[in-house]
Amino acid sequence: MAEHKLLLAHTDDPQHKTVAGYVANGGYRAWRKVLTSMTRDEVITEVKASGLRGRGGAGFPTGLKWSFVPKDSPKPRYLVCNADESEPGTCKDRVLLECDPQAVIEGMAIAAFSIGSHLAFNYIRGEFDYPIEVFEKAVEDAYDNGHLGKNIYGTGYDLDVVTHTGGGAYICGEETALLQSLAGHRGMSQMKPPFPAVEGLYGCPTVVNNVETLAVVPHLINNGGEWYKTFGTEKSAGTKLFSLTGHINSPGNYELEMGTSLRYLIEEMGGGIPEGRKIKAIIPGGASCPFMTADQIDTPLDYEAIADAGSMLGSGACIILDERTDIVWATYKLIKFFKHESCGKCTPCREGTKWLTQLVERILNGEGEESDIDKIDNICHNILGRTICPLGDAAAMPVISVIQRFRQDFVDRIKAKDVLPMEQFSFN
Ligand code: SF4
Repeated sequence: MAEHKLLLAHTDDPQHKTVAGYVANGGYRAWRKVLTSMTRDEVITEVKASGLRGRGGAGFPTGLKWSFVPKDSPKPRYLVCNADESEPGTCKDRVLLECDPQAVIEGMAIAAFSIGSHLAFNYIRGEFDYPIEVFEKAVEDAYDNGHLGKNIYGTGYDLDVVTHTGGGAYICGEETALLQSLAGHRGMSQMKPPFPAVEGLYGCPTVVNNVETLAVVPHLINNGGEWYKTFGTEKSAGTKLFSLTGHINSPGNYELEMGTSLRYLIEEMGGGIPEGRKIKAIIPGGASCPFMTADQIDTPLDYEAIADAGSMLGSGACIILDERTDIVWATYKLIKFFKHESCGKCTPCREGTKWLTQLVERILNGEGEESDIDKIDNICHNILGRTICPLGDAAAMPVISVIQRFRQDFVDRIKAKDVLPMEQFSFN
């Protein structure tokens, strides 16, 4: 298994972001096929058959999510594209919005049709000035060429797409917080159930899908779900975008078949570690995923294998930390991020992330005690599974993993009583 470009096939072609360029490369065939020859159920069946799982981080089966929208609800239904990409290390959706926006629109349109929606939103991270500009132009172009709007392709089907920009809160990448924000409220997560598919935006059935997930959909309709399953592994079908960052010679976004090894991503695509240094730790799926160690480099990049290795595939943001990395410092940077981004609604997350930050800060100030290590671990276990949304777990899991896998680094730092000037930990 190796590199295979489906989503990144045309991202170097500047014309591809226009409707003319996209159509010349086979674009909008799937949308036309869906509207002129398929039923909603047939679309969902095809997506289910493909084994496509959500690419935002959770890996939930996409077709199954669509099928949860009640068919008999008299309420309007909404499709929401989650383009709030803010998991540290992740920059893959941005490239799709900038270089292949028509594919995102086509995927949104097909998903909207499958759930009976006539209004779709793209919730884009507010800091994404250029992707927002490109996407809005692409939507305009799609309207002008009859791929959106009233009576699309003469089928009587209407669909509008609206761009909504976020305010820069990490938590709004979580679907219930995103829907609160989209509805004009403060972005805070909600208890589930009810799930958005039943009661989402404005209390109506809503499906929220990640940008990459939606951009895959036209390929499934054009080539069939079974074709998609010829890529990847039995349970993790298809290809996946990986954002490779950190201590690596060639950082960037790479598209690999699921099941390709971490080693291939790091050595073949990323060109290895600068100056031949050794790897100390790998965060395979974004800042909320447990750290892996250098000896796990042959782990296949798929949902199951990474879980068996004690971490998560997450959003596919693979962060490499080389042997020079101060793991206590890296832990502090992560936990400070989650403390800053906690919405404060539930106590374990709000207070726990603050206590964790204070304890790690104390160690970095040369004032830590060995008992602090177990305190940190204990606080994490009291956050884990006890919060309204996954941010609590996201904060706790990487810290638990560093205590497990790099405990000696904490012990050494506490014994050395080294002091690092705190200005280098400033959030900005
Ligand atoms: Fe808010 Fe954190 Fe609770 Fe999520 S886990 S609802 S971010 S306080």
